[in-house]
Amino acid sequence: MDEVIELATDVLVAGGGAAGMFAAVAAVRNGAKAILIDKNVIGRGGASIMAQMTCAAALGEAEPDDPQLHLADTLEAGRGLCNEDLAALLCEGAPQRIRELEAWKVNWARADDGKINQVKAPGHSRKRCVYVDFLSTGAAICAALRNKVSRNSDIRRLSNVSLTDVVTRDGEAIGAVGFDVESAAPIMIKAPAVVLALGGMTKMFKRTTSPNNLAGEGVGIALRAGARLIDLEFLQFYPNGHLAPRMVGLDPTTWEPTRVKLGGRLLNGNGEEFLQNYGEAQGERYSTTRDALTYAIYKEVESGRGSPHAGVYLSFQHIGESALRAALGPVIEIFKRNNIDLTRQPVEVFPIAHYQMGGVEVDTDMASCVPGLYAAGELAGGANGANRLSGNALPEALVFGERAGEKAARFAARRKAPAWDMSAALPEVELIRAVRGQNEGRGGPSPTALMSDVKELMWHKVGPFRTARALNEAHDRLCAMRERGLRAAAVSRERVHNASLVEWFELRNGLLAAEALALSALNRRESRGAHQRDDFPETSAQYEKNQRLSLTNGKLVSSFEGVERARLR
Ligand SMILES: Cc1cc2nc3c(=O)[nH]c(=O)nc-3n(C[C@H](O)[C@H](O)[C@H](O)COP(=O)(O)OP(=O)(O)OC[C@H]3O[C@@H](n4cnc5c(N)ncnc54)[C@H](O)[C@@H]3O)c2cc1C
Repeated sequence: MDEVIELATDVLVAGGGAAGMFAAVAAVRNGAKAILIDKNVIGRGGASIMAQMTCAAALGEAEPDDPQLHLADTLEAGRGLCNEDLAALLCEGAPQRIRELEAWKVNWARADDGKINQVKAPGHSRKRCVYVDFLSTGAAICAALRNKVSRNSDIRRLSNVSLTDVVTRDGEAIGAVGFDVESAAPIMIKAPAVVLALGGMTKMFKRTTSPNNLAGEGVGIALRAGARLIDLEFLQFYPNGHLAPRMVGLDPTTWEPTRVKLGGRLLNGNGEEFLQNYGEAQGERYSTTRDALTYAIYKEVESGRGSPHAGVYLSFQHIGESALRAALGPVIEIFKRNNIDLTRQPVEVFPIAHYQMGGVEVDTDMASCVPGLYAAGELAGGANGANRLSGNALPEALVFGERAGEKAARFAARRKAPAWDMSAALPEVELIRAVRGQNEGRGGPSPTALMSDVKELMWHKVGPFRTARALNEAHDRLCAMRERGLRAAAVSRERVHNASLVEWFELRNGLLAAEALALSALNRRESRGAHQRDDFPETSAQYEKNQRLSLTNGKLVSSFEGVERARLR
């Protein structure tokens, strides 16, 4: 039988992206000892390191600005559903986190006068978004945080540890269970406070901008621990995701900053501009928010005016080579290596799954309704309502991560060390042992095959445009996969880097997340922000409510409640 590795700490932080790393730093500077785990390599595995563009913060360096103006823009983009206290926390906390990162050697791009450069992104009323040159923003933030984390001896870093469950006793979190990806050995971590910073669920869609390890496990794990979800139906599709020609070495989000920076033109398959037909006024060309842009592109293709690969064209042909070179720097060489000459040809783009607005419901301490259980970063829902502004996800990860770490450390210090309950942890440990080698050689579907079925299903039935019929079909198939498919799957008995074991647990929690998303989308019988229903195309005042979801006796239960308006201010 596998040995069980037993560990203990004050604060367990699961997820080593920007939110998790900041949470670990904040926990130890508030007196706690922390363990930081990630199923990949800490600081290199999630969406944070891939963020190429900008981080919104009302610094007022490029022009006068104020967090209250940032908040007003965030609330407007959220289409009436933002938790206003969380949104205020994000906007008010962002400048401090940007300054702090600067002190930790993040080289924010600067203008000739030495001030930090800030650019205007769609939906922002001011030049507010900071960046590190040549698409390096997320990489620079992660490098600084990795450095902070690795130099602090009170943070124990464990890469290649996959979290499978939070352990609870009498409804309170007391630690967690997972396994070592390198050896398949189960791990129990006792901790009076647990911070989940496991990122989003966009891996569950066939076409996505996100790395391969963001399967929504945080959503499933939190639900099973007793936490509630909020507004999971709102999943952001990135409007100008790269579609064709084949492009290697750059991620599919490359085109939006390039379009805004250079004035790229979106054209339909007939070579005509079309955004003006979807309400975009002449002077607002680059201010259309992501939900509206996604809508316009999708509808243009649906009307038979798409490009050859069923997207639309993005053209820079009206811009001279020297202007392209000056603006794109080294990136132009990467285009060249891909045989993309922007002076001669357009590229094709189409919306692609990018970010989840909904997630675990938290208060302004980042605490879920389960005492001892916190959530931060993309996994924490509510701040962005029905649609996130470009550049708001990085400050969300930084601000909420810091807050969660601080509050979790204080909670752990106040709490008497909770008695560890082996009987609550052992079934999860036994499950890890039982799944390794399950149905091996008996011809069941591999977890990889199941995962690719889920991704197809989510892409075609739970995409940006939804109907009751498609959602019902998706929901029923997801339930069947969760109830029967997982048991039938064949998992290798291999110990070392057992990919099928990792993927089985991704599916166990990710399928629950996908089912929660399909059910939430089915229940919201209106169109709002990133959630568009072909059968309910209007926004309805009746649905200006948050949808909460919990797991009761294995079944998802939904309720609509009034939006949390500002209590803090
Ligand atoms: C390509 C791309 C570009 C983007 N560009 C921008 C931008 O310019 N500006 C902006 O504001 N936002 C941007 N975003 C969004 C932003 O990057 C994310 O929302 C944010 O970084 C999320 O941070 P996080 O720490 O919450 O999660 P992540 O950085 O995704 O980290 C989550 C971590 O959890 C780990 N994990 C997952 N499951 C488990 C498990 N079971 N056990 C252990 N570990 C687990 C993962 O390995 C990962 O390291 C972009 C996103 C993408 C994908």
